[in-house]
Amino acid sequence: MMMKAAQFKAGGPDGLYIGEVPVPTPLEKEVLIKVVASAINRADTLQRKGLYPPPPGSSDILGLEAVGIVHQLGTGCTRWNVGDPVMALLPGGGNAEYVTAHEDLLMKIPDSINFTAAAAIPEVWLTAFQLLHTIGKVTKGERVLIHGGGSGVGTALTQLVKLAGGIPIVTAGSLQKLEKAKSLGAVAGFNYKTEKFSDGVLAATSGKGVDIILDCVGGSFYEQNIEVIAMEGRWVIYGLMGGGSINGDILSKLLRKRITITGTTLRTRSIEYKRELISNFTRVAMPHFESGYLQVVIDTIFPLDKLSEAHAMMESNTNNGKIIIQINS
Ligand code: NAP
Repeated sequence: MMMKAAQFKAGGPDGLYIGEVPVPTPLEKEVLIKVVASAINRADTLQRKGLYPPPPGSSDILGLEAVGIVHQLGTGCTRWNVGDPVMALLPGGGNAEYVTAHEDLLMKIPDSINFTAAAAIPEVWLTAFQLLHTIGKVTKGERVLIHGGGSGVGTALTQLVKLAGGIPIVTAGSLQKLEKAKSLGAVAGFNYKTEKFSDGVLAATSGKGVDIILDCVGGSFYEQNIEVIAMEGRWVIYGLMGGGSINGDILSKLLRKRITITGTTLRTRSIEYKRELISNFTRVAMPHFESGYLQVVIDTIFPLDKLSEAHAMMESNTNNGKIIIQINS
């Protein structure tokens, strides 16, 4: 059987097209999902440019998440039944009519959220939860600086910091993104394009700085990050949108402040790591979607055949929250 799936010639968004490829066959412990909606992430834009190949053994179709109905079970599956609605964390393959996923990397869709909106959850919310809890180990009352406050990950992080009893502070490149972040719980926000965010963060924290920096920017922010990080702060690097090169006396400043820097990625983690992350997220965060305390933030919904427009929008940095791809209604 054949299906429609995102294909591309390496390069710009114009190289994206919808092709016909065979429906994948679920391996042991995998299910086949008939996809209703998927989404895009920065990683997809890098993969499209030929800069971020999928992990070995994974689908080379774009798409790190999908929501849909379990269509077929592979051998050894015990956790789901055909017909179950699910959301899936994927190493690839979500921008297609069908996708296979390990049964341990599926989640129940919260009752209060429809299929299309649920496609905004797996990749950015699990990334945010991992950054904050598994890696950052946030505790109540800690001040957390979130860069990319209007991004998919950033809009999830702000809410999860608040849920954990922390104090979220954001940076973003527009007033509209800063206002949205404040509506989600940020106590302060700074436009990195028009002001030195380090001045604002120090003023907002009475000169104490922040305990944790969740950093998807890297190079272009490192000097201001060093200024605002508190003694014994934790600095978690999970993206390099501002480049990976730094040039300066970073080490002596890190030494004096006794800073810990950690880099992390989610896509290449083991099934065991992701299973535990999903289990903790399901226990700690998921009930708060049901109650409405946590909200998915969606900017735009595109049909699959407009995938190139979706990528172009993400690369123009205009989206505030997630860009969803509707596959079937
Ligand atoms: P997104 O929704 O596309 O948002 C990214 C936003 O970052 C842009 O809209 C832009 O907003 C801001 N930005 C872009 N370039 C910037 C720069 N040079 N300096 C400062 N801000 C810049 O992105 P996303 O899909 O949520 O991903 C956010 C980040 O998380 C990306 O770096 C992605 O690679 C990373 N990520 C990492 C993992 C992991 O496991 N390590 C997993 C998922 C995502 P403004 O400039 O308007 O503020």
